Amino acid sequence: MTTAKVNLLDYDRKGLRDLFAQLGEKPYRADQVMKWIYHRHVTDFAQMTDVGKALREKLAAASEIVPPKTLFEKQAADGTYKWLLGMDGSNAIESVFIPETSRGTLCVSSQVGCGLNCQFCSTATQGFNRNLSAAEIIGQVWVAAKHLGNVPHHQRKLTNVVMMGMGEPLLNFDNVVAAMSVMRDDLGFGLANKRVTLSTAGLVPMIDKLSESSDVSLAVSLHAPNDELRTELVPLNKKYPIKELLDACGRYAARRPRTTITFEYTMLKGVNDQPEHARQLVKLMRKVPSKVNLIPFNPFHGTRFERSEESVIRAFQKILLDANVLTMVRRTRGDDIDAACGQLKGQVTDRTRRQAEFRRKLEQGVADAA
Ligand code: SF4
Repeated sequence: MTTAKVNLLDYDRKGLRDLFAQLGEKPYRADQVMKWIYHRHVTDFAQMTDVGKALREKLAAASEIVPPKTLFEKQAADGTYKWLLGMDGSNAIESVFIPETSRGTLCVSSQVGCGLNCQFCSTATQGFNRNLSAAEIIGQVWVAAKHLGNVPHHQRKLTNVVMMGMGEPLLNFDNVVAAMSVMRDDLGFGLANKRVTLSTAGLVPMIDKLSESSDVSLAVSLHAPNDELRTELVPLNKKYPIKELLDACGRYAARRPRTTITFEYTMLKGVNDQPEHARQLVKLMRKVPSKVNLIPFNPFHGTRFERSEESVIRAFQKILLDANVLTMVRRTRGDDIDAACGQLKGQVTDRTRRQAEFRRKLEQGVADAA
């Protein structure tokens, strides 16, 4: 009987040291191998020249290093880069790298599809298949880092990671926490805590759990300033309404001096972009140390929403700024390759029948309009 090999990308430093201990090896050997994987992008044990031949053979017999397979890659006119990464025979996810003058940000996915059904989100129309493994999450960073020629601590081209791609990261807690640990480990990608951001739709108990186990930056997909509207846009709000969510954010911030929570707010024309919405948002933002990211909606095929006018977004921002709420408008990047915020799709074998329902509604809308 043959035993399946373990993928070393599935382990953070502690996990890898434990694995090496089981093989009768010292912890520093695990550290050496981590450096080969994440600093030099080596996946072949034979190339790990400072690791003894006997250990290399032992590792090759019991383990492998398998990043996700690049099925397709494309660069936008503004330099944004998108990968379609195959996760198994029938599912693929997208990750996006956004280069800016002083930093390079990779947007990483945590699930194949998403089950939370936010109404303005392209991923949501595809349904949900499964959680990604830790290897599949950190593998997205590995693929981008290799492509960019990133060398932690020296040639740092990848400076920030945001868990804002497909999926709700807090519903895949253990794998996401393990992958974020490698992102911040000096033997991994060596990013500072504040440069790794987890974005959640608002799973209150899991925000508290994250608070106990990780020091990453927290972002919350808010998108509406009152419960009635938010429940319509982000159905999870029915379970965890805004007050409970803000209380959890307050607890998260209280454990980390000088931390601010980022609140993402997608600007939907005539839906959540009116001055009274901005004034309601100001009141909410007084409850926690916060900043607001206004995201011009990026339309996708079949959506009923439209992007707010630029002048409306600026007027909304001014109300917040005048009330001393730090507020940025996110520049749309990579929309010519469908890599902009909320546009990631991948290939999802839907297990929720949501794709069929979305198609039915779409066809019905077309028939009604005919
Ligand atoms: S916005 Fe995020 S949590 Fe909501 S459906 Fe899309 S991927 Fe899921």
